[in-house]
Amino acid sequence: GAKEAGRNGFQFFVADMNVRAFERLMLENALRRAIEQDELSLHYQPQIRVADGQVCGCEALVRWQHPEMGMIMPAQFIPVAEDSGLIVALGDWVLEQACRQQALCARAGRLLTIAVNISALQFRRADFVDRVADILARTGANPRLIELEITESALMQPSDALHERLQRLGGLGLGLALDDFGTGYSSLAYLKRLPISRLKIDRSFVRDLPGDAEDVAVASATLSLARDLGLEVVAEGVENAAQLEWLKARDCQIVQGFLFAPALPAADFLAWLQACGAQPAGTTD
Ligand code: C2E
Ligand code: MG
Ligand code: MG
Ligand code: MG
Repeated sequence: GAKEAGRNGFQFFVADMNVRAFERLMLENALRRAIEQDELSLHYQPQIRVADGQVCGCEALVRWQHPEMGMIMPAQFIPVAEDSGLIVALGDWVLEQACRQQALCARAGRLLTIAVNISALQFRRADFVDRVADILARTGANPRLIELEITESALMQPSDALHERLQRLGGLGLGLALDDFGTGYSSLAYLKRLPISRLKIDRSFVRDLPGDAEDVAVASATLSLARDLGLEVVAEGVENAAQLEWLKARDCQIVQGFLFAPALPAADFLAWLQACGAQPAGTTD
């Protein structure tokens, strides 16, 4: 009867939880090895300045090439890295790799800003700024061409310590961008006091522009807020010409998305820069 089905359902549920806990442990162990054995790599997605159509920088996005499972995306393993504390080693690796790439580009005469994602857990560690300063010194990267993307959630529960941490990062010359803007609950008064230079409109608010009234409302509000605070806006997830036109008409400064290019391995990214510059994918001139 219903009782029996319920009991079986419960058993399935428990079994399923065990499988998932097991899978997670496997993933955690595999990730620990991956960091040591060089299975991670950074892909780079171009950012385009709307005013002149030129590539002004890129975002570094981590990828995991597992020998058997193939390519694993960050949405699957960043949460595991955060739960297990591996995010600190992973974050250091990512920042160091991006800094090396920046120094390499500079030596080749390409002055591109490289944006690096910082997890809330990484940012909230007391030694975070020291680790960043260390990596900058070790790699010889130009801090003015490195931008840290910090999520709104990392800045929740604002405190003097967090604010001072941001000030010290700015003092090193680093750019600071607020990632996933609109998905958290930053108070506007707080935002005004933050030493940041850019807001990134979350992809979820770009997807249905210009047809969706809610996305139009959020994107418009973000752009006008940024203008009033003297911040630049990066719109991510720009996939079509209609989105681009809408953003352009409202003076969004920087765009990023599949309309231009997805995140590419370093060599492919450099080749892409060489070949098609900032022309949207599919155009011919
Ligand atoms: P994010 O920082 O908001 O990065 C933007 C994500 O949107 C990337 O996904 C990018 O590939 C994707 N994207 C960009 N343009 C388009 C588009 O036009 N259409 C669609 N459908 N997607 C687009 P990805 O690489 O899978 O990364 C997902 C998230 O994982 C990132 O979101 C970020 O939160 C996190 N992440 C990625 N790399 C790192 C890292 O090195 N460290 C940390 N802590 N987090 C990372
Ligand atoms: Mg980001
Ligand atoms: Mg984002
Ligand atoms: Mg929507």
